[in-house]
Amino acid sequence: MDSIQSIIGGKVYNSTSGRNSAVFNPATGEQIAEVGLCSASEVERALDAALALQGEWGRRPIAERARMMFRLQHLLEQRKEDIARLISREHGKTHEDALGEISRGIEPVAFASGMPHILKGEHSLNVAKNVDSYSLRQPLGVCAGITPFNFPVMVPLWMLANALVCGNCFILKPSERDPSASLLLHELILEAGFPSGVFSVVQGDKEAVDALLTAKGVAGISFVGSTPIAEYVYRTGCSNGKRVQALGGAKNHMVVMADADLDKVVDALIGSAYGAAGERCMAISAALPIGNEVADRLVARLQERVKAIRIGPASDAESEMGPLITQQHKEKVEGYIEAGVKEGAELVVDGRGHKVAGNEGGYFLGGSLFDRVTPNMRIYREEIFGPVLVVVRAGSLDEAVSLINAHELGNGVSIYTRDGGTARNFMQSVEIGMVGINVPIPVPVGYHSFGGWKRSLFGAHGIYGPESVHFYTKLKTVTARWGETSGSGGKAEFNFPH
Ligand code: NAD
Repeated sequence: MDSIQSIIGGKVYNSTSGRNSAVFNPATGEQIAEVGLCSASEVERALDAALALQGEWGRRPIAERARMMFRLQHLLEQRKEDIARLISREHGKTHEDALGEISRGIEPVAFASGMPHILKGEHSLNVAKNVDSYSLRQPLGVCAGITPFNFPVMVPLWMLANALVCGNCFILKPSERDPSASLLLHELILEAGFPSGVFSVVQGDKEAVDALLTAKGVAGISFVGSTPIAEYVYRTGCSNGKRVQALGGAKNHMVVMADADLDKVVDALIGSAYGAAGERCMAISAALPIGNEVADRLVARLQERVKAIRIGPASDAESEMGPLITQQHKEKVEGYIEAGVKEGAELVVDGRGHKVAGNEGGYFLGGSLFDRVTPNMRIYREEIFGPVLVVVRAGSLDEAVSLINAHELGNGVSIYTRDGGTARNFMQSVEIGMVGINVPIPVPVGYHSFGGWKRSLFGAHGIYGPESVHFYTKLKTVTARWGETSGSGGKAEFNFPH
């Protein structure tokens, strides 16, 4: 059985903590590897290696760091088939979906390749006699990233591209459920010419995370995962003096107006609610049709389509939806379906008990669809993170907006309409970080930034794009006087100049 290691100071490192975690192939249910979980002292070791390199790495000319990033972009493109297979093996998503993940991960790398332009700073000439003022951004210091299972390549790239190019050494703590992709990323980073040791991988669980959150030498923490852990990471990291951005969970709504093109709506909902088995933080998990007439037509169409989703392993090119990540997570999602039924929602399609011939041990679940869900139900209030779509019938757009704004999570939202004014008003009044208009999954491109509102993001900065440049750098503003021809005549100035 494969044993998955860490990378410390540029070298493969076998944890001696004696603690391991099993890694499964979710499509078969077989254990395929185990990963050694680093102890706090092993995390310290990775940190010491990073701290030793931080000064030199931060002073490297930005053009050199950008060239390495450019080569990394090329290598990721070249190796995307291998990377996708690795993602599917441990995560279970289809091959095409894994390729999509890689493409979206390459975007921040491409953005980071242009960092010399972005880091130029600002300069004001003659702010007073012979005085100039300018601002620049310097590296934050050693940064760490803690990432979730659902995007084992894209989310690490969201973080490490801008962290490294801005001159920070970076330590990644990947999800222990699909840890192998992090090692392939390290291989490509070395091949791209980055100095050995500026990027480390510490495999681990809570112990490794806690060590990063409390270690003195860590300057910044980027976290992506569930809301309770995001909040914990934010509070603990901040109280230990670190800059923290912690992105959490989601309950993303799609509002369906009566004038929307229902064919497009149904396609969009099927892809965004059931793609990757609903294990996406930008999945649409609640549909809000406006008016009963739209709701009746929508539910009837969805019912047929949900039943027709082709469920299977990534090895079958026909599969549209793969398994869930673990048996435990599958049971959790089944528990939500049970809870929805108990609370009185109408289960229109029940995905429980779905079996895939030849893959009976896999963690497969069929798509489920609930109608007549009300805002007090757990299946509406909580993130399910599985292939379950809930339909909440709203009487008006105002009612839908009030519901969305009252929800504690605020990652993404979408509206389908043919009316520009309706879409514009909605976009302005909705309290959500990322808004789609006739677009189901409004993940911003790599040169914009990604981030939710409310309990979907703790901290002031979104991830990747311009926001992450601010996160991974410290602002310095310089006021300089040059060219003074005479002295100040022995007179000190005690007052603010006016
Ligand atoms: P998770 O919160 O269980 O784990 C995320 C990371 O935190 C992992 O590296 C894990 O090892 C670590 N961790 C887990 N428990 C911990 C603890 N008690 N103390 C310290 N560290 C701990 O999340 P997950 O199940 O891997 O991923 C799914 C979640 O991530 C969903 O809620 C999803 O919405 C969210 N997510 C959010 C975004 C976003 O951009 N907002 C993107 C992807 C995923």
